[in-house]
Amino acid sequence: MKQTVKVFKFGGASLKDPTAIKNVAGILQSYKKEKLVIVVSAMGKTTNALEKVVEAHAARNGKAFEILNEIKAQHYQIMEELFGKEDEAYAVVNDAFVEVEWVLEEEPHENYDYMYDQIVCVGELVSSKIAHAYFTKIGLPTQWLDARDVILTDDIFREGWVQWEETMDRAERIVVPMLAEPGFIVTQGFIGSTTENFTTTLGREGSDYTAAIFSFCLDAQDMTIWKDVPGVLTADPRVFENATKLDRLSYKEAIEMTYYGAKVIHPKTIKPLQNKSIPLLVKSFINPEGEGTLISNEVEDAYPPIVALEPNQVLLQISTRDFSFVAEHHISYLFNLVAEFRLQVNMMQNSAISFSLCVNDVDDKADRFAARISDKFKVMLDRGLELITVRHYQEDLLNNLRRGKIVLLEERIKDTTVQMVVKDVPVMRRRQTAQPN
Ligand code: ASP
Repeated sequence: MKQTVKVFKFGGASLKDPTAIKNVAGILQSYKKEKLVIVVSAMGKTTNALEKVVEAHAARNGKAFEILNEIKAQHYQIMEELFGKEDEAYAVVNDAFVEVEWVLEEEPHENYDYMYDQIVCVGELVSSKIAHAYFTKIGLPTQWLDARDVILTDDIFREGWVQWEETMDRAERIVVPMLAEPGFIVTQGFIGSTTENFTTTLGREGSDYTAAIFSFCLDAQDMTIWKDVPGVLTADPRVFENATKLDRLSYKEAIEMTYYGAKVIHPKTIKPLQNKSIPLLVKSFINPEGEGTLISNEVEDAYPPIVALEPNQVLLQISTRDFSFVAEHHISYLFNLVAEFRLQVNMMQNSAISFSLCVNDVDDKADRFAARISDKFKVMLDRGLELITVRHYQEDLLNNLRRGKIVLLEERIKDTTVQMVVKDVPVMRRRQTAQPN
């Protein structure tokens, strides 16, 4: 019979320094009797720093080793506080960094995304190695699991898509026997591997998704994401002063909100859990006794208004060069390219002579897409926009949100959701005119 297992995910903020790591260990102490799979992110802002290493290496500007050395120093400093000056964990962590140094000693790879994944993965590898060594040292025995041995993806680097059949099979073969052993399992979020054993990543902030993959494959009893907020809030508290915690949320509601920018959970996380009715808890690592938010099949009949803001949007207004209508065959051509470029479309609208797409402005994807269609279409790009999604809206809230903004697209979906693509009203300044005599 399968063991009952819980899956925990700890993000970068919960592991950012020795105090934070000790706090996580404190939380784990109270789950000593449970079977846990613990998925960890890279510590603090390590992934951002590693992205800088990749950029520097690609630009051959000679800074890559310097930035990597800073990252190493930060990790060794954390280790010194956790382990003292000597521990076998140092060699293990060093080995992981050495693999990155080998990549940096080579010429930059022509496939940037491939190179990115081979370098950036070290963040999760070292954080999980440090966590494993520390928890074991303080009497919380853990087994270290390489997530790449379990999660198989396609070979789209930086956005690996999970190959579910094989991943489930591997979980059964590799993880289930580990669960029969005493102690927790510690593994990495964010990373997987291709059939050729190249490391892939699942997209930024993808560790939540990793935890959901493990939960699905292991039929977890429940999954918990430990955050620095008390649970899922009705809005981003840094932007809205009256954001409040939601105690319960249906999967459907959670999918809608996270897809459109509620940053609390990675959007791909919910579906695997929903498919197996695995409850998802979002709890605070600062106040672990707090109730958090429970996301499950249960449907609440009344929700307060919930607001998600997604900055960094670009609106593409596409029209035919000969001013003919945008017809079916155009749309089918455009949609094929949207898929090829993996543009994440948040809103679209079609009129007789133009077709508008609002997408996340990631790297230079929108420019490359525009260049590709420029022989057939005229494309206008409007950047720096914000997508506002309001569920269970009230008119006065919408009016408030529109204040000081120009609304470029707006859509109401049933009577529950309003979406708007907005930009700030440019500040008008009076011209300095000569004074009349
Ligand atoms: N470390 C990765 C990131 O910062 C993945 C994660 O934390 O979820 O994007």
